[in-house]
Amino acid sequence: MRTALRALPIALVSAALLLTACGKSRAAGTPSPGRTGLPATPTPTISGTATRTASASPVPGRSATPAASGATVVPSGRAADNAYFLAPLDKTVGLPQGFVPPGLTPVPRAYSYYSSGISIRSDVLSGLKGLVDAAQKGGVTLLVFSCYRSYDLQLAIWSSDVKQYGLAKTEQMDAPPGHSEHQLGTACDFTNAGTKNPVDQGWGETAAGRWMAAGAWKYGWALSYPRGEEASTGYEYEPWHFRYIGVDLARRWHDSGLTLVQLLRGLG
Ligand SMILES: [Zn+2]
Repeated sequence: MRTALRALPIALVSAALLLTACGKSRAAGTPSPGRTGLPATPTPTISGTATRTASASPVPGRSATPAASGATVVPSGRAADNAYFLAPLDKTVGLPQGFVPPGLTPVPRAYSYYSSGISIRSDVLSGLKGLVDAAQKGGVTLLVFSCYRSYDLQLAIWSSDVKQYGLAKTEQMDAPPGHSEHQLGTACDFTNAGTKNPVDQGWGETAAGRWMAAGAWKYGWALSYPRGEEASTGYEYEPWHFRYIGVDLARRWHDSGLTLVQLLRGLG
């Protein structure tokens, strides 16, 4: 565990431990020095009557608030819980600080890289099971190492990474707090049992990574941050990060050739 994480509030420690496993390997597959940061998570832009709130303003007392703050979008005229399900989150479109998705439920041990501590929206759990069970039949054993992350946890990750890597690098790796797909409770990071460093771009070249890239969409999951699409997504390639959008929309995404955030912006 890196020193920076020792300062995290107790409530965040167990989750932060998950993050310490996220040291990212760079292009050549060389493990980077234990990145704490988590993958980014874009959300769809809410069209029309979106209003800005102050919730994305820098948090008092935190030294490393994201530069992209100030862009939380609150949909109006729609049920709050599900209005965000297909939100096109990116560095400028985000969620209210207090947003917690409905129906969070623990991910069963059989699907989890860790013994406990991972939650997901209950209405997405069946989608997770469908994906993992299908992969198993294809000879690939998948586990999740992160699904739901709170605003505060994302802030802790962001702040830690800014201290360790600087703001510019952190902006490539992490979604600012309030802008992570993980806050939706519908995005998960995937790996396999026994993987030493789950946050590794080389995972995309493993049998599991290739299986996910080729077929996760058939089960409702979209790869949020493909290789070579940084200009669109705003984030580095993350072969482990998928967001559940439902089988029909995932097929449409796959057939479109668009990045996920491009597709979701177009739904508005
Ligand atoms: Zn992720």
